[in-house]
Amino acid sequence: MGHPERTCRECTQRYVPTRFDQVHCGACSQRLRDVHLIHDTLFSSPHQSVDRVAIATGLSIERISDLAAEGALRAIPVGADMPTECVCPPGESGRCAYCRSKLALRFAEARYEASREAGPKNGLRMRDSDRSRRR
Ligand SMILES: [Zn+2]
Ligand SMILES: [Zn+2]
Repeated sequence: MGHPERTCRECTQRYVPTRFDQVHCGACSQRLRDVHLIHDTLFSSPHQSVDRVAIATGLSIERISDLAAEGALRAIPVGADMPTECVCPPGESGRCAYCRSKLALRFAEARYEASREAGPKNGLRMRDSDRSRRR
């Protein structure tokens, strides 16, 4: 006996729930879970770069960027809305959005390191100990 179709609260598409209490379609459930993971990671320590958030959440950088682009995130990891390629004119590097984001990313990293140096706060979860502190 299967469940009757329902309308997703998020995207209003019809879907067949796999659980009795499910109110979102598969894609939306997944997205809400991912968004929650990202918020959780940024809550414990803001100003993290998208690379760090990707490692902490286990999501791909593309996935995080997509969610940021969709406007699904309340807090956007630094660099998540960054273009993937430099489009600076030759000889004028540092002008395009990509280069400026790179710079913002470096500042964010510095801030992140500084907050780490200040000592961990209560309930702070650190899951990036397998990463070297500098690349
Ligand atoms: Zn949906
Ligand atoms: Zn550039």
